[in-house]
Amino acid sequence: MTKENTKKRIAELVDTLNYHSKKYYVYDSPEISDYEYDMLMRELKTLEENHPELKLSHSPTQRVGDVPLSYFEEIEHEVPLKSLQDVFSFGELVEFDERVKKSVGDTQYVVELKIDGLSVALEYKNGIFFRGLTRGNGIVGEDVTSNIRTISSVPLKLEKEIDITVRGEVFMPRASFEALNKKQEAEEKQLFANPRNAAAGSLRQLDSSVTASRNLDIFIFNIQKCDFYNFETHSQSLDFLKSLGFKVSPYYNVYNSISSAFNEIERFDEIRDSLGFDIDGAVVKVNSLADRLKLGETVKVPRWAAAYKYPPEQKPTVLKDIVIQVGRTGVLTPNALFSPVVLAGTTVTKATLHNRNFIKDLDIMIGDTVIVQKAGEIIPEVVRVDKSKRTGTEISFVMPDKCPVCETEVVVDPSGAAVRCPNDLCPAKVHRKIIHYASKEAMNIEGLGPSIIEQLIDNHLISDVADLYSLKKEQFLTLDGFADVSAIKTINSIQNSKTAGLDRLLFGLGIRNIGQKAAKLLAKRFGNIDALISANFEDIIDIEDFGDTSTNAVLDYFTDPENIKLIEKEYSSV
Ligand code: NAD
Repeated sequence: MTKENTKKRIAELVDTLNYHSKKYYVYDSPEISDYEYDMLMRELKTLEENHPELKLSHSPTQRVGDVPLSYFEEIEHEVPLKSLQDVFSFGELVEFDERVKKSVGDTQYVVELKIDGLSVALEYKNGIFFRGLTRGNGIVGEDVTSNIRTISSVPLKLEKEIDITVRGEVFMPRASFEALNKKQEAEEKQLFANPRNAAAGSLRQLDSSVTASRNLDIFIFNIQKCDFYNFETHSQSLDFLKSLGFKVSPYYNVYNSISSAFNEIERFDEIRDSLGFDIDGAVVKVNSLADRLKLGETVKVPRWAAAYKYPPEQKPTVLKDIVIQVGRTGVLTPNALFSPVVLAGTTVTKATLHNRNFIKDLDIMIGDTVIVQKAGEIIPEVVRVDKSKRTGTEISFVMPDKCPVCETEVVVDPSGAAVRCPNDLCPAKVHRKIIHYASKEAMNIEGLGPSIIEQLIDNHLISDVADLYSLKKEQFLTLDGFADVSAIKTINSIQNSKTAGLDRLLFGLGIRNIGQKAAKLLAKRFGNIDALISANFEDIIDIEDFGDTSTNAVLDYFTDPENIKLIEKEYSSV
């Protein structure tokens, strides 16, 4: 790579990693898997090591942890909460062992589960819980004492009246995570990407009763500071923590060599599905506290420990069928249905196959054994086909030439990838359009979920979004699960949506290429729907960030007489 290209790549990696870091730490909503993140970070570290002169001051390699949020009091840790050096293979673990041996000679290791949660420091005074801080940036954390108090496994009084600061990992057990996401789904709220992000979001709640309702748990794995110190090894210190009443992470056996430590790492990988909580690796630590002192620490990590990170779990399963889903814009999406398989702790049975090019590129056939993994730890995806398992009975998949719902002949986009149902009255499209219109991000109509919309369409009570506004209580009472109160409540939320604002309406109408941000810009510029309907190309493209595609999408939408009719119908009922 030329120096110019290296410089460009470094800038690109810094921007990408900073973006994902913000998504992960600040919004608790990652878009890529930790493994992908770690691989990008590794590439950046290598480039920076080879070209230190190109290192940028805002590089994520310069930071220990996440960003403290401003709404909790920030408090400096008594002892910094450092990170861990990563290793991704047995070879890298052996290199770690060699570095350790060079400093301290033969030594013993403890292997622990690497709990996938968020790190906290708990301070006790005279054996009484005094304060709980998040790791923050490792130096300064957020004071979340009252939230930590709601975690029932945190002892509020210890078995000994001593001053001690311990470090542990707050996590959300899988069962609590699944229950929480079910509740979020029922209330039509955004789902959490994984237990780690749900735990982080739950611990940083301003209202402790919300934290209490999330059933968090904790494992303690280290003594940060203690006035009662008479042990020589890390494993003794964990025993001591247990005797004080702390919940210490379950397995911490001692090993004489790095290869026996590696066996334990592999065992953890085998049992991870049955643990009831997520781990993202195993941590290998030097057991002797005297050896640890000799090895010391860098600014970011101790030299006496290494985090072994497992690659994303991949599993084979049999592709039983490919079914077509018709989306809001009429795009036909093929979805894979496969035999149930447990991935990262949950059972998955389907994944999107995106479009016909994806199926062709991966050469996927019905009956194939496919390898699946979870992207971003939550969305299952098909990675490849295991062609060695083919028996000759597999069936090629052909994209239908008619919409499977309304039987209208499909059209193929110029790109060749997307296949679309052109019928605007297709029930599947209507259903999806109304779901989108009522969603939290658009008109935010509480109580009008997908299954109710489906019933309203099936009973011929609505055929477009405008029809929602003339629904009567009696009509709701004909649907499953409705009584007087719920019917009136739903009608009220429909009527209240009239005040949702032009930006939400424009987003809710589902104009192609117009997302939430573009809808806001349009609403700000034109103020009312009539001004937008009579706008021309120059008026629209003048808006910052609008290009030819989005401008033409808006013009196309408002020149279609069907759409104008819909808007008139909606406004006449408003
Ligand atoms: P880390 O997660 O790699 O390791 C350090 C952490 O491990 C410590 O903070 C500690 O709390 C925890 N831990 C759990 N069990 C432990 C045990 N038994 N002993 C010691 N420590 C234990 O490092 P980090 O700096 O906390 O986080 C960086 C990681 O976050 C990245 O490696 C990446 O995987 C993830 N990340 C992902 C994204 C994304 O977009 N997916 C973005 C940013 C960061």
